[in-house]
Amino acid sequence: MLIKRIENLAQSILSELNIKSAPVDIKTIAKKKGATIKPYELGENISGMLFIKDGEGIISYNPTESMVRQRFTIAHELGHLLLHKKTQDVFVDKQFQVHFRDENSATGQDVQELQANAFAAAILMPKDLLLTEIKKHNFDLGDESAMKELAKLFNVSLQAMTFRMVNLGFFSIK
Ligand SMILES: [Zn+2]
Repeated sequence: MLIKRIENLAQSILSELNIKSAPVDIKTIAKKKGATIKPYELGENISGMLFIKDGEGIISYNPTESMVRQRFTIAHELGHLLLHKKTQDVFVDKQFQVHFRDENSATGQDVQELQANAFAAAILMPKDLLLTEIKKHNFDLGDESAMKELAKLFNVSLQAMTFRMVNLGFFSIK
């Protein structure tokens, strides 16, 4: 599945649920898309898990991690539920990186992880909401404090926001 289709999927979910402002409520979105969500003691190295039973998803996230990480994990697991539920029933995510490489450079299992990350980025940091906020605050994206503010507005990590900006072509790392 192309990144473009993942962007469109995230966009259609936001439209369907009439979500027009940041930060998006990822728990509510996941619940409305058929997932049950619960904090779970997963151990230090595990950020999240998804179990699929009869087409329904149970998302567990690690409550000892930061709020921005918990939000990214829930979004990532929702990505697996919506994109990959036909391929397997259990997904276990170690402390994965929030960035994603070019889909073409990855294979097999990796592709699913990249796709789940792409979905998470698209739903947590929707392109049109980003454009609205950047315009509203007149952010200079070359300025690190502006990027931090933007990350705060969307309740994501600075790292996740920076990669999103690069992937959307709004910002380039020199
Ligand atoms: Zn994953």
